[in-house]
Amino acid sequence: MSQTITGSGEAVSVRAPMAACRPALPEEAAHPQRTAIIDLDAISENVAALRSVARSDDLMAVVKADGYSHGLVQAARAALAGGATFLGAAVLEEAFALREAGIDAPVFAWLASPGAPYAEAIRRDIQLAAYSTDQLADIARAAADAGRPARLHLKVDTGMWRGGAAPADWPELVRTARRAEQDGLVEVVGVWSHLACADEPGHPSIAAQLAVFDEAVAVARAAGLRPRYRHIANSAATLSLPESHFDLVRPGISVYGINPLPPEARDGLPRLRPAMTLAASVVQTKRAPAGSGISYGHTQRTERETTLAVVPLGYADGVFRSASSAGPVQLGGSRYRVAGRVCMDQFVVDVGDDEVAAGDRVVLFGDGDAPTAEEWAVAAGTIPYEVLTRIGPRVPRTYIGGAAAGPAASGT
Ligand SMILES: *Cc1c(COP(=O)(O)O)cnc(C)c1O
Repeated sequence: MSQTITGSGEAVSVRAPMAACRPALPEEAAHPQRTAIIDLDAISENVAALRSVARSDDLMAVVKADGYSHGLVQAARAALAGGATFLGAAVLEEAFALREAGIDAPVFAWLASPGAPYAEAIRRDIQLAAYSTDQLADIARAAADAGRPARLHLKVDTGMWRGGAAPADWPELVRTARRAEQDGLVEVVGVWSHLACADEPGHPSIAAQLAVFDEAVAVARAAGLRPRYRHIANSAATLSLPESHFDLVRPGISVYGINPLPPEARDGLPRLRPAMTLAASVVQTKRAPAGSGISYGHTQRTERETTLAVVPLGYADGVFRSASSAGPVQLGGSRYRVAGRVCMDQFVVDVGDDEVAAGDRVVLFGDGDAPTAEEWAVAAGTIPYEVLTRIGPRVPRTYIGGAAAGPAASGT
């Protein structure tokens, strides 16, 4: 269950009664048990900001993993409204879901094992990746079945040692692709790769990977291929490495308002706006005497008499158990930390003698003065990518912002 609110809205200041200038929130958003409020305007604005720094003509908004938990289709529409010209999916199912929602923008899906439904992908005009000659042969066969050529982006592994053709196998892949192109089975529209350390500006692997990439493009051209899109830049490279932009950039996390660069590398870059606010409503408060053991295992005890508040979000919702006694929350304008262990469905906050009551709004992360997903990542010993993508299906998404106006953007 999720709600769409049309018109521009303000996601963050939700603990106070709605100011008169804001659109009325539906009951679920005004008093949610738990919700992830998604500001679609933030997604559109972030894409526009990324376009302003990108040297490339094209921008692929990466919407894999349910749009980094923001909602696949909603995120895709907001990104297109902000100027994205491509959508990036990891697996084919995500690409199919975009087509089923009626989105006809170019879609690229790059992760498939043998037996993947390539013919269906080709019929639905989903652009595919080929990492190897075996995979290329599978796709070419599927193209023959589908009765139309597959649009293909050949992937070269420039040094991440994840997917893609190793440099030694690249010449054979491009030769095979060229033959398949001459047979009318594929059209090679792209050559691409992925950087291992783009979020560590100056890391020596970056220049090394770019050099291998340039060489791979030259080999492809020498084989007769004319790839229109050369692409290698994720968010970090889009923001910090113009020489990596080529014809297309592929930002993901930055679309959702998180800059993956270290703070000292962010000077002069546009500020991105976090699109998600994770919030809940306090279940109960009660006074506890000094020395009370809190939550499973009694890993933390009250230091003095205090008020404890119960929050209805737990690790089943994506609140990291490893953030026990650490994760920050905002309640009534003040900051607190998780007290004791995060449980499956709930956790406890020690609010001292502050006035907190059942029903009060607690924000785990969001924009403005709320804690951030980055702070939760530090508390949990992970990265903000995982903080966002772990948000579970039990957390209803509430949509605000202008791009929510289309009928296909309403709740799923
Ligand atoms: C996830 C992904 C991206 C986006 O990465 P961010 O760091 O989120 O910008 C780009 N390209 C590929 C191949 C990816 O898997």
